Amino acid sequence: MTERRCRKCLLEEFDREAYLRTLKEHIDSTPPRERTPEDVYARRLETCKSCDFLETGTCLACGCFVELRAASRRGKCPYQKW
Ligand code: SF4
Repeated sequence: MTERRCRKCLLEEFDREAYLRTLKEHIDSTPPRERTPEDVYARRLETCKSCDFLETGTCLACGCFVELRAASRRGKCPYQKW
């Protein structure tokens, strides 16, 4: 049975564990040829962490979850920072 996920939760209702589990499952299910190499992934996230647009894992410039976008080889920063 598929787990139901609320897409309209407030941050105070946010289940951090479930989010991290879903994030890892998504990245793990990405075919290796589409996945960003680990060193590049780490550099991308370091750039996001020093960026004013990062807010609780979300890029306020584009609305993406940066860890998901950064994990895709084809993912791009909307401000060409990576
Ligand atoms: S994706 Fe780009 S604009 Fe968004 S938080 Fe990361 S570095 Fe900043």
